[in-house]
Amino acid sequence: MLESQNILVLDVETLASADDCRHCGKPSSARHRSTQGDNCPGYEPIGWENKAALSLSIGCYYDYQDGQLHWFDRYTLEATLRLFVTRQPLLVSYNGIAFDFALMRAVLRHAKIPEELTGDVLHQATDIKKALCQLCDAFKAFCATSYDILAEIYKVSPYKGKGINTLDAICRENGLSTKEMDGGMAPRLWRQNRIAEVVGYNVGDVLRTKALFEMIMARKTIRRGYGSALLLPRPALTHQED
Ligand SMILES: [Zn+2]
Repeated sequence: MLESQNILVLDVETLASADDCRHCGKPSSARHRSTQGDNCPGYEPIGWENKAALSLSIGCYYDYQDGQLHWFDRYTLEATLRLFVTRQPLLVSYNGIAFDFALMRAVLRHAKIPEELTGDVLHQATDIKKALCQLCDAFKAFCATSYDILAEIYKVSPYKGKGINTLDAICRENGLSTKEMDGGMAPRLWRQNRIAEVVGYNVGDVLRTKALFEMIMARKTIRRGYGSALLLPRPALTHQED
């Protein structure tokens, strides 16, 4: 039923971990005030809110229209947002409104204009920057029409008990495959050029989100920890054929 519809299921991976140091980028476990003259004033975590600093390593989406997985990174982020804003699919995510989409916008908005630019080149760069901000605004408005499974769970049952609303926990409760590794590992693996593992992890999250979405579309209840079963409202789909 869903095949060939204008629906995408998306998930992104961050470049840095929320607990990496915002000054020097080292993990919390490393020494920060070293005697070798690196100038970290002391460990302070980046945190989940600073999305521009978390940045993007890789993002993936499954497209029901062509039945394929597609990837994007910082270099293809702008083209990806342009595609979404133009095509206006139903964008499905798990926590995308609060996290993934907000991170994609933050990364694009914080693209820096090089300081050495002057004259016409600076003007052009400023125009490009303005166009990127307009694109981000259009994408933000579009995100409000997306289907975020976690946001739907909170609408039905706002209980935020620790660890019961993560994608991993929800998948475990519903007999779907769980993550092969801890999410915080992905940025570290990426920095070590262990790209294949991060890509595999990213795809896994997209496919798990897709499986949950298909349960919801089949009017199945979603089980959550502590025994609650939630029947989430289905998004309205635009049928192109009838
Ligand atoms: Zn530090």
